[in-house]
Order: sequence, then structure tokens, then C-alpha cells
Amino acid sequence: MAITDKIYVKNHRQLASQLETSFPKSAFAGATLDLLFTGNSLANLDTTTQDRVLDFAEDFLDCDCKAHPYCGCAERKFISYLLELRAEGFGPDQIVNVMGDDYMLYAYSGDILSFLDQSVRTLEAAEALAKTEAGSDRSQELYDAKRELTNG
Ligand SMILES: [Zn+2]
Repeated sequence: MAITDKIYVKNHRQLASQLETSFPKSAFAGATLDLLFTGNSLANLDTTTQDRVLDFAEDFLDCDCKAHPYCGCAERKFISYLLELRAEGFGPDQIVNVMGDDYMLYAYSGDILSFLDQSVRTLEAAEALAKTEAGSDRSQELYDAKRELTNG
């Protein structure tokens, strides 16, 4: 399961009652994206929630793909967002707090931790592979990326 399947809408019950409908808890579920971010639901939400929903749409759902919002761009961008927070030195608990403040989303810090571990392992594998190609400077690049993720 991808980390984006484990990102949830905070205050889910409250939002569902404001919208007078039910939708999945998972933020990246198709029905949630449709309802919250591409539908006409905004007007029914309180202003704080509206702001967060708009921020999320602007930051992650701004592509022009035909399959939007099912093209995968939002998930890819969200993963970069998580990795950037990690590179800035945030730990899993802090990352959960930041996504709550930024977008009214939450995740379990254990899930974020295993996602970060997994990302580092993927980079290590890529680094090892790059080293096998003579004269490749890709290896240094990956090493630096890994250091960014593991420091702090
Ligand atoms: Zn797209």
C-alpha cells in the first residue's frame, strides 16, 4: 500500500456532516478527490476548512492531465512534499503535525516512518546500481539525497 493510501482527512466526521454526505476517510481516494477538491462542495464548508482544501488543490491538483484527478500527479507531489519535510529535518511526528496545519490531513507517524525508511532503502539500491556504472556521477547525487533524508 502506498503512503498516499494512508493519508486521512482530519475532522472527517465534521466535514461529512457539513457536506451532508459520506465520503472515504482516505484523502487520496477517488471519491474524496471528486467530492472535496473538484466538486462544488466548498461553499458548504466552514472558511478554515475551505482554505485548507483550496491550498491542497492548488499545491497538489494543479495539473492539466486528461485523467485528472486520477492521473497520479497529486500522489507524486504529495510524496515529494513528505520527502522535502524530511530533508528539512522534520521527524515523523512533526511531519504529521505539519500536514495537519497545512492541509488538515493526518497520518500515523509509524506509517510515515516506514515510508521514510523505504525511501532511504530505495535510494540505497539506486546508489549501489549507479556505482556499478563506470564514471557515473549519479551515485554522488543519490548519496546526497539519502543523507538529506537520514540527517536531522
Ligand atoms: Zn496529472
